[in-house]
Parts: sequence; structure tokens; C-alpha cells
Amino acid sequence: MNHPAAELSPRTSELVAQTAEFVTETVIPYEKDPRNEAHGPSEELRLELQAAAREAGLLVPQLAEDLGGHDLNHREMAAVFRAAGYSPLGPIALNIMAPDEGNMHLLHKVATPEQQERFLRPLAEGTIRSAFLMTEPDGGAGSDPGMLATSAEKDGDDWVINGRKSFITGGDGAGFGIIMAKTGSSATMFLADMNTPGIAIERVLETIDSSMPGGHAVVRLDGVRVPADQILGELDEGFRYAQVRLAPARLTHCMRWWGSAQRAHDIAADYACKRHAFGKPIIDHEGVGFMLADNLMDLKQAELMIDWCAGVLDSGAPGTAESSMAKVAVSEALFRIADRCVQILGGTGVTQDTIVEQVFREIRAFRIYDGPSEVHRWSLAKRIKRERLAST
Ligand SMILES: Cc1cc2nc3c(=O)[nH]c(=O)nc-3n(C[C@H](O)[C@H](O)[C@H](O)COP(=O)(O)OP(=O)(O)OC[C@H]3O[C@@H](n4cnc5c(N)ncnc54)[C@H](O)[C@@H]3O)c2cc1C
Repeated sequence: MNHPAAELSPRTSELVAQTAEFVTETVIPYEKDPRNEAHGPSEELRLELQAAAREAGLLVPQLAEDLGGHDLNHREMAAVFRAAGYSPLGPIALNIMAPDEGNMHLLHKVATPEQQERFLRPLAEGTIRSAFLMTEPDGGAGSDPGMLATSAEKDGDDWVINGRKSFITGGDGAGFGIIMAKTGSSATMFLADMNTPGIAIERVLETIDSSMPGGHAVVRLDGVRVPADQILGELDEGFRYAQVRLAPARLTHCMRWWGSAQRAHDIAADYACKRHAFGKPIIDHEGVGFMLADNLMDLKQAELMIDWCAGVLDSGAPGTAESSMAKVAVSEALFRIADRCVQILGGTGVTQDTIVEQVFREIRAFRIYDGPSEVHRWSLAKRIKRERLAST
């Protein structure tokens, strides 16, 4: 495994090395555990993995020290998250998986001190999970969040939310959710315990991926009553907060799945060196050797793109366009790598005998969530046009 420590402080380099060792020694043996289910690792397995990471001092490394972390910037997170992603279970162990990591970031940025104590602290400690409820079925918000149909109406001191949400990762079993709802012509985010009357899991979807605890749920919101102090941040700021959450969250997906693609590459490279066909190791057949060479180039380009975008976020810029570019370039590069690794392994590539099969499925889904490639390309094209027109 190659996690270049250039430009990282000795403290962060040490953390990267510790994470890599923890994933190899402690996490990878859990990959064959039967508690890895179709809708992600069971709650028992999640808690067991997180107890091990807590013991190793690796839980929520990105967060401030008073929340148990190491207060990492985005560049430092990139190195640690890549190391954690070497197993799809690594981010779960470190409590840096989606959607919780993105929700922690948003709560840290915009929640009141009281909200942080009630929702962020138990999430950081791993005692609960969370969900982010934006996407909707039935022609509501999807690629176009402006089509948001779920609404919140003021009723006395409370707000009453009605609607349906879809693809809600971790919704089944989450302690609380961040619900995006229309408030007049704007949108607002609300914090709600998932056992609030009116919130019901309709069903958990059967999806191509299987790494995220709780899977992805369709959630019904029927007259969900929340007090005004459960507005996250400020009223009518929902769309702005979505950007605060989504730009860095897109990039942390890139970081984590980079680690898994590196793992798939390592497995495929080992296989190609050992497996013989037509009188020589298959790596000596140009068709295979070149696939591995292309993997190396895709991995390096993806890593550089992640570090570049992380640097933009560290500069304090919102990184909206940069994270769109990184999301498209990295998710597509990682998918090419995963696809080549399946091919190099031959029949074994499509079996569950190696983690490559799961990595392939996970990265396929990654090309859709947090914005499909086409939507990012489209928004980049709009920006190009806007900037050209402004300069002429
Ligand atoms: C595994 C997974 C987990 C998810 N987790 C969550 C979650 O926790 N919370 C949440 O709120 N949502 C979640 N989502 C939803 C995800 O964000 C949406 O699937 C995504 O935004 C696309 O919306 P849609 O599925 O409605 O696709 P649609 O809006 O129906 O779009 C379908 C396709 O149309 C094309 N398209 C759309 N717009 C354009 C355009 N402008 N130009 C060119 N082509 C375009 C794209 O190819 C796109 O894939 C998750 C999705 C998946 C698959």
C-alpha cells in the first residue's frame, strides 16, 4: 500500500500509518463476518468495529479534540481516509462513513451549541447513527433539488413536516435525521429524532451496494411535528447548507473509495503475478500488464485530484466547482480501476472470494450519489458559459 506522506506533519503521517495497520490487522478479518448483510453491517458489528477503533485512538480522527478526534484539515483527512478505505469496513470502524461524516461536518458548521450537544456529540461517540433526508420519490427532489416537494408549515411554536424521502442511507436504525423541507419559496433543514411520531420507514431498497449500515430507505413523513429549536441553523437556509455539506462530503467519498480501489488493484496485481496462462504469468501478457499500468495512472491522478480539492477547501473556499470536478474525475477513474481488477481476476473477479467484487459494486453506486456525473458536468458547463459571458 502506498500512502505518500509528503507534506504531512509527522503527527499525521503517524496517524496514517496507524490507520493502515489497524485496517490490515483488525478490520480486514471482519470482512468475512456473517454480520455483513445485504443492507450493510449489522448494528452489533458496527458497534464492535467502532469499539476497536476507539481503543486504538482512531475514532472520528477529523473532529476537534473535545469530540475525541485529532482536528484534521482536509489534506490530512484525505490521507487518513484513504488509508481507512482500504477496507469498506474501515470507514465504519473509524466512524467516518456516509452519511454520518457529512452530517457531523454540517452540524459542526451550522448547529447551535445546544443542537451540537444533543445530536453531534452522540454521533461522534458512535452511540447513534444519523440520516440525511433530501432525495424524494414521485417526481420530487433528485438531481434537481429545486423540485423539493416535502413541506414544513408553521403551527404555533412548532413546524409540521409532510412528504416522502427516498434512498435515505442509514435511515433504518438512525437515531436522528436532517430533513430538508420547503418553507415557502425557500428550504429549511430540520433535526428530528427518527422515532418522532409520523416518521416511518416504508421499506429498505435492495441496491447494488452493501457497505452502508442500514442500507437505503424510503421514508414517509406524515405530520412530523418538530419544535422551532430543531431548525438546523437558520430558517430558509436549507439550499445554502446543502452546499456546505455536499462539497466536502463528495470529496470524502472520493477519499474512502480511493482506498478500496487501491486494495482491488493490489489484489489484482498479486493475482496477475502468480497466475499463469499460455506459459507465463498473466502480468507478462501486455493486455493484463497494461491494465495494471492504467490502474496506477488512474490511482495517482485521482489522488492528486483529491489532494488538490482538499487544499482548496482548506483555503476556506467553498470548493463547489472543484469538488464537482473531483467527484466526476475520481469516481470514474476508480470505476475503471475496479472494472479492470474484476477482469484481471477472471472468473474469481465476479465471486465473493475477494473484496474486488464488492468494491466494483460500491464504486458503481458512487457514480450516482452525491450528484451523477452528468449533473456535475452540466453545472460545470453552466459555470464555463457564465464566466465566458462575463469576460466578453
Ligand atoms: C446508494 C445511494 C445512496 C444515496 N443516499 C442518499 C441519502 O442518504 N440522502 C439523500 O437525500 N439522497 C441519497 N441518494 C440519492 C442521490 O443523491 C440521488 O440518487 C441523485 O441525486 C440522483 O437523483 P435521482 O436518483 O432522482 O436521479 P434523477 O434525478 O432521476 O436523474 C436520473 C439521471 O438523469 C441524468 N440527469 C439528470 N439531470 C441531468 C442534467 N442536468 N444533465 C444531464 N443529465 C442529467 C443523470 O444521468 C441521472 O443519473 C442516494 C443514492 C444512492 C444511489
